[in-house]
Amino acid sequence: MTELERKQDRAPIPSGWEYATAPESREIVQLRERYGHFVGGEWLEPKESYATIDPASEEPLAEIGQATDEEVGLAVSAAREAFENGWSALPGSERAKYLFRIARVLQERSREFAVLESLNGGKPIRESRDVDLPLAAAHFFYYAGWADKLEYAFPNRKPQPLGVAGQIIPWNFPLLMLAWKIAPALAAGNTVVLKPAETTPLSALLFCDVLRQAELPPGVVNIVTGDGRAGAALVKAEVDKVAFTGSTDVGKAIQRELAGTGKKLTLELGGKAANVIFDDAALDQAVEGIINGIYFNQGHVCCAGSRLLVQESIYEPVISKLKRRLQTLRVGDPLDKNTDVGAINSRAQLEKIEELVRSGEEEGAEIYQPPCRLPEKGYWFVPTVFTNVAQSYRIAQEEIFGPVLSVLTFRTPDEAVEKANNTPYGLSAGVWTEKGSRILSMAQKLRAGVIWANTYNRFDPSSPFGGYKESGFGREGGRHGLEPYLKFE
Ligand code: NAP
Ligand code: MG
Repeated sequence: MTELERKQDRAPIPSGWEYATAPESREIVQLRERYGHFVGGEWLEPKESYATIDPASEEPLAEIGQATDEEVGLAVSAAREAFENGWSALPGSERAKYLFRIARVLQERSREFAVLESLNGGKPIRESRDVDLPLAAAHFFYYAGWADKLEYAFPNRKPQPLGVAGQIIPWNFPLLMLAWKIAPALAAGNTVVLKPAETTPLSALLFCDVLRQAELPPGVVNIVTGDGRAGAALVKAEVDKVAFTGSTDVGKAIQRELAGTGKKLTLELGGKAANVIFDDAALDQAVEGIINGIYFNQGHVCCAGSRLLVQESIYEPVISKLKRRLQTLRVGDPLDKNTDVGAINSRAQLEKIEELVRSGEEEGAEIYQPPCRLPEKGYWFVPTVFTNVAQSYRIAQEEIFGPVLSVLTFRTPDEAVEKANNTPYGLSAGVWTEKGSRILSMAQKLRAGVIWANTYNRFDPSSPFGGYKESGFGREGGRHGLEPYLKFE
């Protein structure tokens, strides 16, 4: 770094730059007052219900059903009937047509879905519009392409569908996780019952209207809503497979529950990824990758680059560039097109983040938060960087699932590998270096399911995603993502 660059880096951000607000209109979303469960192509009036809110304003949006064991049972029976009465026997080329239709309708209605996703989940509209929606549609397009090619995907193995899949998803990417679950299951000839997260059910419920437009036969996709009790009921029900994305603790409980039952299981769980920056990396690019790695979607990302490993020789410039960049992040209204960091998804999640951040300060890490005015209502957390972090601190060990970065340093590549792998998780990692050979050597040694090189948080439906160790097992995406939904003769 030259003296001039150093000065520029330390100079305060010019003040007086104000952005006008650029809010996306809510008009396009028509919410009903109450929603039931979507069972056998019909709305089932729920026995119990609760209110879902907008986390940016705490304003209630709609009444949502809290599925009872009986209601979950009805959804599973509807899925079983649809499986046996035609769906499983349809030629793959016919199933593909439905998946293509779903993908196209999602594209047509993507603005509506993007607004709804930001409204119910708190994520910036820029992300729901440019990431969640295009990727969700791409996932259906991609698996539509496999539906009539299963024999080629698994030559000489006679792939057969499993039956009914029970699918449980979290709140951080509600529609995208739905797409990751439903598209491969249908392509492989299964029917499904899906439970969205308690705090973010609305995009899954609007998706039922997409199914109607696509004329999907009734019962092929069923949606039951509610909290963890509905998820637990789905795991216990007469399903042939459980696909779960969520926390490691709940994943472990599900695995215990299913042991010995013969039901198939895939688990996509938490992470504590290392984002490793070598001294030959393009630093400005790497800083963008660090920012995207941890502040994308408020850090509510299982593969977030939450542990930054910086080579000691470039520690100072990286940290000063990072702090400077942090000052330019705009936190606030998720529906404002200028917003970079939106609302925290729920009060419970905010409390979890606050508790872990306190522990970081108590254990001796140094905290940095840029000056930032937060809205008065709703759930918010200022983008945060912790330096002076020891590997033993909770903020270096536990998943915070919020906009909080823990910075550690290393001297040699071996030390970087050792520290990166020093976690019970193994979902993802990032490597920033100019040398291709170093990327390959790091990728071999890092124990993580996904490794990004000179980029971060890039997704593509053709690329399998999943974890090692306590991050779970099974893959979603790619040809690999079909396998958990098939049995072979
Ligand atoms: P969670 O509490 O485990 O919830 C995930 C889903 O499981 C929700 O639908 C939840 O319902 C349901 N659930 C809760 N208790 C259950 C039980 N006993 N039996 C069956 N289902 C149950 O996780 P979360 O806090 O919502 O999500 C954050 C976690 O998900 C993080 O650890 C993150 O790393 C992980 N995640 C992983 C991936 C991945 O692909 N690996 C992707 C996204 C998120 P409620 O909504 O009512 O709790
Ligand atoms: Mg939960």
